[in-house]
Amino acid sequence: MSDSFHASTPKRPWPHLAERWRSLALADRWRRLGLGAKFTAAVIAILTLTITASTLYSLHAVSRFHERQLVEKGQALGRLISLVSPEAILSFDFLLLNEYTRQVSSQNDVVYGLIVNRDGLPLSSYVDRAESRVGERVAAAKTAELPELLRELDAKGDLIRLQFPILHNDALLGRFIVGLSKQSLRTEFRRQLATQITVLTALVLFLGAAIHAVFRYNVLFPIRELIAASRKVGRSQYASVKIKADDELGMLAKAFNAMADEVREEQAKLHRQAHYDTLTGLPNRLLALLRINELISRSEQSPQRFALFFIDLDNFKSVNDSLGHALGDELLVSTGARLQATLRDTDTVARLGGDEFLVLAPDVTAEKVAENVAERLIRAISRPQMLNGRTIIARCSIGIALFPENGRTVETLMANADNAMYQAKASNQGSAIFFTEDMNTRLRERMQMEQDLNLAIERGELRLHFQPVFDGTGLHHMGAEALVRWQHPERGEISPGVFIPLAESSGQIVAIGDWVLERACRDWSEWNSAGIDPGFLAINVSRVQLGRQFSQRLAELLRLYRVPPQAIELELTESVLLDDHETVAEELRSLRAVGVTLSLDDFGTGYSSLSYLKRFRFDVLKIDRGFVAGLPDSPEDVLLVKAILAMARGLDLRVVAEGVENRDQLAFLSSQGCDLSQGYFLSRPLTKDKYLSYLTERRAAAEALRLSAARDIRRLGSSI
Ligand code: C2E
Ligand code: MG
Ligand code: MG
Repeated sequence: MSDSFHASTPKRPWPHLAERWRSLALADRWRRLGLGAKFTAAVIAILTLTITASTLYSLHAVSRFHERQLVEKGQALGRLISLVSPEAILSFDFLLLNEYTRQVSSQNDVVYGLIVNRDGLPLSSYVDRAESRVGERVAAAKTAELPELLRELDAKGDLIRLQFPILHNDALLGRFIVGLSKQSLRTEFRRQLATQITVLTALVLFLGAAIHAVFRYNVLFPIRELIAASRKVGRSQYASVKIKADDELGMLAKAFNAMADEVREEQAKLHRQAHYDTLTGLPNRLLALLRINELISRSEQSPQRFALFFIDLDNFKSVNDSLGHALGDELLVSTGARLQATLRDTDTVARLGGDEFLVLAPDVTAEKVAENVAERLIRAISRPQMLNGRTIIARCSIGIALFPENGRTVETLMANADNAMYQAKASNQGSAIFFTEDMNTRLRERMQMEQDLNLAIERGELRLHFQPVFDGTGLHHMGAEALVRWQHPERGEISPGVFIPLAESSGQIVAIGDWVLERACRDWSEWNSAGIDPGFLAINVSRVQLGRQFSQRLAELLRLYRVPPQAIELELTESVLLDDHETVAEELRSLRAVGVTLSLDDFGTGYSSLSYLKRFRFDVLKIDRGFVAGLPDSPEDVLLVKAILAMARGLDLRVVAEGVENRDQLAFLSSQGCDLSQGYFLSRPLTKDKYLSYLTERRAAAEALRLSAARDIRRLGSSI
């Protein structure tokens, strides 16, 4: 069954696909049409349909009316003939009957007139040949065929056939049949149709054009304007659209303008965020780099010089930590404002981040001018200022790089200015330094050293030296400070003053510090096991090393080497107090819990206020050798050291004087009741072996030597 079905309906995919494609292509074409074309096409289609329907209806009504008129005419004729013809039939007056039918047929639209007897046989007929082709056909027919032909024509609807009975005293004598031609009706219909089509086309075209024009002006133009404006917004050009009316399009234009304004504001905000620093409102690093690049490319067309000043506030971190971040922020804002006020409008002042600023001065063409600008900048920054009720004197370091001498690319210029600033900071705070090639060499050396330092522990290049520490009189050995040394394979011994800051900034200090801690504990334990009393061992700890892990590690090492915690003194510099107070307090607490002594190293060089000493409990305070150096002749140093000693007594702190280089210093310190002393006069730092010999053999001899000195000291002390 299904086979026969398949056989009877063969597959014909191509016509089907082609039809689909055609319909798709049409749909696609329609989609691609403009709004105006679509609207006009739709309007024309609707107009055409509506007007055509109404025209057809009215044409139909008119032709019905004409047809009715024709029928009425036929009926009038029929009634007349049926009235007059009985007499002629009864008297067999065929001539009269013929006259009647001729008269009838000669009427307009009448094709024939036929009088038949009761049986339907024609008695008289007359055909108007002139009346259309139907008339010709009827005329050509034989009389007997006539009724049949007439029926046929009626069936075709070419004629209207009317029949009227011919009665005499209610007796049927025959029938009068009249045939009316629809020809004139059709002609009239066609004429009307042609006229209507012409009028209709004209009307549709006119209305279509008028509607299109109105649509174009009121809808298309505003929409096109909106499209053009939207495209411009995409290209970040913001032009508002004219609002012509309060209709939906007017509202759309209003909404568009509001949106464009918002986008413009948002763009401006984004631009500000991307290019300006939120705190100071100054250009940020990105914008600064763009402006430098701009100057570099401009100089390619017409060579010109310009200067770059890299400015960094000194000790900004201490301001932030000790006086609070809000005040730190105020200082940054005022610094930015001062820099700007010092410079010309054509110069750029940017904040690169943190406390780093950059000044780009396009008009600076000579070194002397750059020098003057730097001086002005330093003066502006260091003018005392009141911030939050406090007088602050900020200082800065400036690195200067000149284009094109110090770099032809933005990266080189920035790196060199930064390098110069770093040198300014390292050499003399509050100064400005021009970049030199020499700095690059130093930078390279620094980087090389950093690399070498990575391998120093592995290669066993680090050593510990020990500098003995004595009591205040310098008579009794109390312990030693462990000081690290780096024996570089090519450069010889490198001072910790050189590599420790480097290790601190690179983070390598964590590994180095751990090595020192472990070695110091191990050495102390070794001596102690050998029956020698090494006294205490002071170990320097960098702030970078501190953290929870550090106290754990310390406790672990003390346990491992059986070192009593009282034998270990940890020396922390004042800078450690600049960190977040809570964290520092927590760290110091955990160190104290281990049981070691805490010592504040280099006291007086840092930035901590005396109140810190109360806050963070230390056991020992080490007066920096800078103050000891001036003793006993410098009245300021005398005053300061006396004050420090008095304060330390008040806070129950032991005091160590560092850098005691001569008898007079020792005598003064001893007379003032300084608890401990350390310095070249008493002993230089010794290698491990030498310190061991010192501890064992030379200790007695050295003490004998110092005994005589002690007598002098007592004498001197009583005279001060
Ligand atoms: P510091 O802790 O203040 O150590 C004292 C420094 O003064 C040592 O310099 C020592 O040799 C020197 N010194 C001692 N007596 C005198 C003297 O009478 N006159 C003079 N002019 N100097 C004297 P050194 O060994 O070069 O150490 C410098 C600094 O390096 C240390 O200062 C300390 O801050 C740091 N340092 C040394 N070893 C370590 C360590 O193992 N870890 C850490 N984190 N820092 C260390
Ligand atoms: Mg120290
Ligand atoms: Mg020190």
